[in-house]
Amino acid sequence: MSIEGRTAIVTGGASGIGLAVARVLVKAGAKVVIADMDQQTGETAEEQLSAHGAVQFIRTDVSKRLDVHNLMALAVDHFETIDILVNNAAILERCSLLDLHEDAFRHVLDINVTGAFLTTQAAARLMVSQAENGQPPGIIVNISSLNGRVAMNGQLAYCVSKGAMDQLTRSAAVELAAWGIRVNGVAPGTIATDMVANLTDNPGIRDQILSRTPLGRLGEPDEVADLVKFLVSGRAAYMTGETILVDGGRRALNIPLP
Ligand code: NAD
Repeated sequence: MSIEGRTAIVTGGASGIGLAVARVLVKAGAKVVIADMDQQTGETAEEQLSAHGAVQFIRTDVSKRLDVHNLMALAVDHFETIDILVNNAAILERCSLLDLHEDAFRHVLDINVTGAFLTTQAAARLMVSQAENGQPPGIIVNISSLNGRVAMNGQLAYCVSKGAMDQLTRSAAVELAAWGIRVNGVAPGTIATDMVANLTDNPGIRDQILSRTPLGRLGEPDEVADLVKFLVSGRAAYMTGETILVDGGRRALNIPLP
């Protein structure tokens, strides 16, 4: 099963890791739908990537059921099938347990978890009927985080959301395996994007991150995108329900006692 000619939806595909994923997939011959809530960066991304193939931006807030419904309908109108879904849209809220307002907590879970649930459910319904009509099974990749496995001070809502996403990956993989639909995840460490720029631009915090990263540097969006490309290819045909770290060795390191 090749990526060429298949339709891929990338949520949050207007910038950062999502944009890199959209680029790598369109270059591999996929027809790509960028589903992002930011109209301006979404249109710019569509314009940039159109040089490489078929790309369509559809403004979408993944936490809104009607937006997701509209996304799927327009994507099918444009490209006929939905073969690949990359759940990448997310927000990071920095706040500790003692100060976090419940509205802020709900907001993070709404986008990072409910959003991924809504798109997964809507795409899976289409993928199931496509599979029952003899088309190749669909593939879903969830962009999780190292923070789904380890706790980070001051990022409680985000860490909880990514832990939930890893369980969404396992649960959806188990249910959808009956149709051959695979669901996997990618869990990045710190990748140089806007989401973490206020951390990585601070020399003190940046040094702290790098001192805990055995490879001694931040990751690049393309290094995450290449793993997504592998997971949606036929070479990963026997993989489902798994989330793979791409974190420069952060998870492997146990800081020694002084
Ligand atoms: P980013 O902020 O650069 O991009 C996120 C994109 O998602 C933006 O284009 C934004 O407009 C879009 N978005 C936000 N809310 C949305 C919504 N409700 N509906 C649709 N689109 C929405 O972030 P990034 O660093 O590229 O992060 C991409 C993914 O990678 C996220 O899931 C993030 O949690 C994960 N991740 C990032 C890092 C990192 O260090 N950058 C580390 C681990 C995991």
